[in-house]
Amino acid sequence: MRPLQSIPKEDTFIHKRLRHDLIKSLREKKGITDERVLAAIDAIPRHFFLDPAFERMAYEDRAFPITAGQTISQPFTVAYQTQLLEINKYDKVLEIGTGSAYQACVLGEMGVSLYTIERQKALYDFVGKFFFLSRYPNIKRFYGDGFAGLPTYAPFDKIIITCGAPFIPPKLIEQLKPGGIMIIPVGEDEKQKMIRVTKDKDGKIFQQEMGDFSFVPMLQGRNG
Ligand code: SAH
Repeated sequence: MRPLQSIPKEDTFIHKRLRHDLIKSLREKKGITDERVLAAIDAIPRHFFLDPAFERMAYEDRAFPITAGQTISQPFTVAYQTQLLEINKYDKVLEIGTGSAYQACVLGEMGVSLYTIERQKALYDFVGKFFFLSRYPNIKRFYGDGFAGLPTYAPFDKIIITCGAPFIPPKLIEQLKPGGIMIIPVGEDEKQKMIRVTKDKDGKIFQQEMGDFSFVPMLQGRNG
């Protein structure tokens, strides 16, 4: 595990410039058009979330290993999923797969009330020591199984799943508000289709495919 994450790091002008280049590329080459999403990514030092060994590469559009065999999603994937959520400032949002908490901070920065679940105890505890999270009192973390969602806090305006799900968990559909949006990568093995699930005012469900992606698997039960 990384020893340094509880120690604040610096966000230098070099980091800021690299981040700016990443934003430019997401906007101009990768088709991210929601300026609120880009502003949130610009506000968050992604290198704080990575092992110091990867610090220089933090602003490349790549996924990286974090602790416990998991990954921090590629910036494009974070931007794309967040854009698909059509975030409004006071949305109540559920995230499955806290991981490094980078995606959580992007949503936190956008002002939503975020509930995020992680199934790996080691990762959940590790992120609890991360100094940067204190910036976002609007993020609430839970150790649990994302397949169950968070019935106590439901319903949610938006739900985002950041691991590859074998199917769309019925409990998450139940916990989505009428008029809500869920963004979930669905597929076994290493390949998933990004699916945009919407629930209309009458509770009817619609699904739309939004491209091919590759995530670590969504696993049943808690670990640790
Ligand atoms: N959003 C994260 C991505 C982490 S990778 C980030 O920005 O860094 C996906 C995460 O989903 C992993 O940490 C994995 O442990 C977690 N995960 C997998 N199955 C899960 C489940 N059933 N419930 C909650 N978290 C799960």
